Amino acid sequence: MPIQAPPQNAPTTESVTPLAKAIFDNAIDGLITIDDQGIIESFNPACEKIFGYEAFEIVGHNIRVLMPEPYHSEHDGYLEHYKTTGKARIIGTSGREVSGQRKDGTIFPLDLSISRFEHDGRQHFCGIIRDISQHKQREKELRDSESRIRSLVTSTVDGLITINASGQIDTFNPACEKIFGYSAAELAGKNIRVLMPEPYHSEHDGYLENYQRTGQAHIIGTSGREVRGRRKDGSEFPMDLSISRYELDDGVYFCGIIRDITKAKAAEDSRQQLMQRLMESNTELERFAYVASHDMQEPIRMVANFSEILVNEYQAQLDADGREFLEIINSSAIRLQDMVHDLLQYARLGRESLSFGEVNLEEQLEHVKINLSELIRDSGVEIYNAPLPVVSGSSVQLLRLLQNLIANAIKYQPANAHPVIRITCDPQDNYWRIAVSDNGIGISSDFVTQVFEPFRRLHTWDAIKGTGLGLAVCRKIVESHDGQIWANSSPGNGSTFYFTLPKTRERPPQ
Ligand code: ADP
Repeated sequence: MPIQAPPQNAPTTESVTPLAKAIFDNAIDGLITIDDQGIIESFNPACEKIFGYEAFEIVGHNIRVLMPEPYHSEHDGYLEHYKTTGKARIIGTSGREVSGQRKDGTIFPLDLSISRFEHDGRQHFCGIIRDISQHKQREKELRDSESRIRSLVTSTVDGLITINASGQIDTFNPACEKIFGYSAAELAGKNIRVLMPEPYHSEHDGYLENYQRTGQAHIIGTSGREVRGRRKDGSEFPMDLSISRYELDDGVYFCGIIRDITKAKAAEDSRQQLMQRLMESNTELERFAYVASHDMQEPIRMVANFSEILVNEYQAQLDADGREFLEIINSSAIRLQDMVHDLLQYARLGRESLSFGEVNLEEQLEHVKINLSELIRDSGVEIYNAPLPVVSGSSVQLLRLLQNLIANAIKYQPANAHPVIRITCDPQDNYWRIAVSDNGIGISSDFVTQVFEPFRRLHTWDAIKGTGLGLAVCRKIVESHDGQIWANSSPGNGSTFYFTLPKTRERPPQ
């Protein structure tokens, strides 16, 4: 845009008073004067900042360069009107929002007020300009954030109520309408107490009274608290309530977020009842197993003892069949005795009150080797172990756990095998993972979890003796020590039994 000379007879800053010049130069608002043809005569520093033109670049040009469409042509219309009628359509000093165009072509909103004055017998116009881009941007942000909050308040499934410091309801969102059965209009300005049954009713009055007296709010807090609400139909229900406090120009407000927990409570109650019934039936079952196995011991012992006496003292009086039948009775009685013994041990596990202390697993392993010395000697097993930790637990039970696993590792071997057992310990985050591996017959993957169930055996009694309770006992012991037990195995490749125990020491003793 070529630079133009200021128009002839333009009112220059030299031709006005020093006060007017000071105002012109220092005004925060942009000041422009134009003649009756729309030619810019003066352009103050604020205008330079707003439009990006320097005064000398713009003076002499038509004001239209500062206007985008539609103001551009609108302005031409105004001037045309002025030229033909001699009447100016002055926008006025009250201001009007229009758009301006900067030197770089960007368009921005501005507040414009125009006045008219005479100089040297000609009409001139003075425009006062305020760039309102930032203000408009803030307004937009505020509108956006308001609409975000409004949509949140109306669409949230949680009830949202705001009250003033006197307890009068200000906001009551649609979720609240659903929860309480009142419409927002019905409750506007009403006291929040209508939504509260006793004792919260009077408790709340106390809170507000205290707040009004001391200025201290007894805020329940944002972490939520279980209270009771009262619906329009008078019914009461449990709800989670969290409250926060905020201040506006006209005072303090409280915002309550409400969740109806009727269903959750009912589900929790029935879960608790179910758990209770389950625990009772478990205890009953354990009691039954305990009593039955305990009471069965005596008659079984009698059968075993007397069948042994028969074998020892009356064999000669029996024929071959009779001796064979007697053998069967005798071995069945011994088997039954073993089963009842193990069942009693298993049932006792749930009933014993455990005395927990520090248990050195390496020491327990030595005890196991002593207890199983005969089996170890006969099988020729080699047992290797990594350093084992000291844990918190019942020494009797942890010994039984190791003993059952090691006895099984020796027992479940192919014929003429040379059994090798390795015991390792891996520190994990908060627990030790201990593994007992053998080179025995292994377990098919279909049964690797089933073997921990009571009486679950993969072999007949005649093939390999056992009661099917050893691993069930192991599982009960590990679980009562807050650990887990499982196995990895496949037929012919040996088995590894893992169990975890919570850490009580940082490192296994070296
Ligand atoms: P039991 O040894 O008296 O039969 P357990 O509960 O100790 O009872 O074991 C259950 C079953 O798991 C066993 O019958 C056996 O089939 C299988 N089992 C346990 N330990 C091993 C092992 N180390 N190797 C292969 N099979 C095993």
